[in-house]
This record gives sequence, structure tokens and C-alpha cells, in this order.
Amino acid sequence: MPELPEVETIRQGLEPLIKEKAIALVDVSWPRIINTELDLSDWQNALVGQTIHSLLRRGKYLIFQLSNCYLISHLRMEGKYFFYPASEVPLVKEKHTHVRFIFKDHSELHYHDVRKFGRMELIGLEDLTSYFQLKKLGPEPTTESFKINNFAEKLSRIKKSIKPALLDQYLVTGLGNIYVDEVLFQAKIHPLTSSQQLTSSQIKRLHHAIIDVLSRASEAGGSSIRTYRNAYGKEGTFQQHHQVYGKENQPCPICGTSIEKISVGQRGTHFCPNCQIFEEK
Ligand SMILES: [Zn+2]
Repeated sequence: MPELPEVETIRQGLEPLIKEKAIALVDVSWPRIINTELDLSDWQNALVGQTIHSLLRRGKYLIFQLSNCYLISHLRMEGKYFFYPASEVPLVKEKHTHVRFIFKDHSELHYHDVRKFGRMELIGLEDLTSYFQLKKLGPEPTTESFKINNFAEKLSRIKKSIKPALLDQYLVTGLGNIYVDEVLFQAKIHPLTSSQQLTSSQIKRLHHAIIDVLSRASEAGGSSIRTYRNAYGKEGTFQQHHQVYGKENQPCPICGTSIEKISVGQRGTHFCPNCQIFEEK
């Protein structure tokens, strides 16, 4: 699943390719990807004639800023975008392409999704803040937005263990299975530690690790895992810097102990049993 660094890499790669393009036609061949109360044909027609002014991101959501609404796109497991200049548009639509945005200059943006879990929806220009408030989306993982006092206060009210709490997007946005494992390793916190019981020094390390890991991963173009690639079809390189994710039975880069893999909330979880000691209080 693309996490924040991958979605940010897609945003940066895609925006210059589609900026100021006017939509001539939208073709949808898998209607369930479109989240709307409108008839599908009305939804498609609502986009015709609109121009893409910018491509934004909030957490793992891509936000196409159009002339009179936003198109919000969540890639979930396997969603991808491919841009084709007019001369390179494939003659036959690829099997897993489910939505095509055809621009007035005959270039096209294709949404491709093998597992069809991704979703798109339109919201009004004035509804962006309330849309994400309703989803209880936490702050972006930056020093400007992600404040440690607020983080500590929220943690003190969460009974579940820290890994699933961080995956919820409520404490902070952008972490998925890969980066949670990397962050907890860097912060030397066992993934099953109760969120409520984290000490202030653990919270400080965790807060720092979240900002640090996600910003370094974004700079590296994200991680190429399984089928993820960015908008150009290029691969990110952050997987070369993974310390624990996918390293089961390999030596910990800090202490040499074998990395263990356990299941936490049904998610494969990698950690060093020596660096990340579980302390029950
Ligand atoms: Zn270790």
C-alpha cells in the first residue's frame, strides 16, 4: 500500500504533467471506484470542461484541485496513475485501467488498480477542511503541523497498543505498515507497548522518528515494494534504508540480534527483540 512518502512522490511526479490540463471526457469502466450519490454519467459530466489547477496531498489522499470542485483520490492497496502524452496513448486500454481522464489536448491520465480498492470522489471547494475533519485525520508529519504536546495528550487517551494506534491516522497521518515498523525501531519502542503507557522520553523519540523517517523516505522517492512505482514508472529507493521491515531473521543493524516478525492487529510486524524491549507496567 502506498504510504505518505509514496503518495507524495506520485504527487510531485504527476503535478507538472497534468497541471492546467482541461478535461474533455472521463471514462469509467469500474463504477465502484467512484464514490458518489449522483448517476455515474452525471458524475462524469460534472468533470467535463474543468481544468486541473494543482495536485495536493493530505495524508495518503491525492487532491486534484479543479475549476469548481476537488477530486479526492485514495489509492488504497494498488492504485496507480499513468500519464500519456497524446502521441503515446495506448491503442488498447490496459486491463486494469478503470478510469481515464481524457484531456482537450488528447493526452490522457489513466487510473490503474489491480485490486479495485481505490476510491475517488468529488467535494465542493469549500468542503476540504470538513471532509478531513470528518475522517478524523491527524496532522501532517511535519514539525510545523505535528506538535508533541498534542500527540502526548492524544496518546494518553488511547488504550490500544502503539502500532495499531499509529496506523489509525488519528494521531498523525501518513504511516502505513512499512513506516510504522521503521519508526518504532528508530524510537526503540516495542510495537505492542500500550499507547497510554509510553513514557515522555519514548514519546519524544517517537515524535522525532515519525517526522524523520517519513521525510527521509519522501526525499528518497518512497519505497518500492511489490508493485508500487511512482508516476513516471520509476522506483523509489528508500527500501534500501529499511532497518527492520522485510528483514525477518536478519541481524539487527544496531545490535545484531535476529529481527523477529509477529502479527499485530493482523499486520505483519518486524522488530528487534533486543532494541525494542517490551516493558509491561
Ligand atoms: Zn537490535
